[in-house]
Amino acid sequence: MRRTAILFLIIITISCTKIKTQTCIIEHNIGSINYCTVLSEDIKPYESGWYVTGYCACAKCCGIYAQNRPGGVVYGSSGRVLIPGYSCAADLPSGTIVEILYPDGSVQERRVDDTGGGVHGKHLDLYEETHDKALQVGYNNVSVRIKEAP
Ligand SMILES: [Zn+2]
Repeated sequence: MRRTAILFLIIITISCTKIKTQTCIIEHNIGSINYCTVLSEDIKPYESGWYVTGYCACAKCCGIYAQNRPGGVVYGSSGRVLIPGYSCAADLPSGTIVEILYPDGSVQERRVDDTGGGVHGKHLDLYEETHDKALQVGYNNVSVRIKEAP
């Protein structure tokens, strides 16, 4: 009997913890009953209409910032060393981890390590190893979601 009571308490505790992590995103009122569409905070929805470009460390891409790089180390505006294929510039808080859903269904994760004068709104500029690779990046309508806010 006591064991059952303890188990019941554990189940209630787990249920309550789960409810706390959910946020109501859409509230409906039907008659006097409130319905709530919930979405777990760690699963944010994709948002369409983003566009993606590429850049590298060269003077064509970085202008005067390409001139002063002791040891060839490339830092983003975040102060972190830029990682080709992983870092990106965006109009989002530094350290945000985003997921890009491409038209072919592939998904790519990037971390916001940099900002850019031409990077505003729904635009991601992906940091690549070479200028050729950067030129290959160009998508007009991709979906992006915030995977992790800093
Ligand atoms: Zn370049």
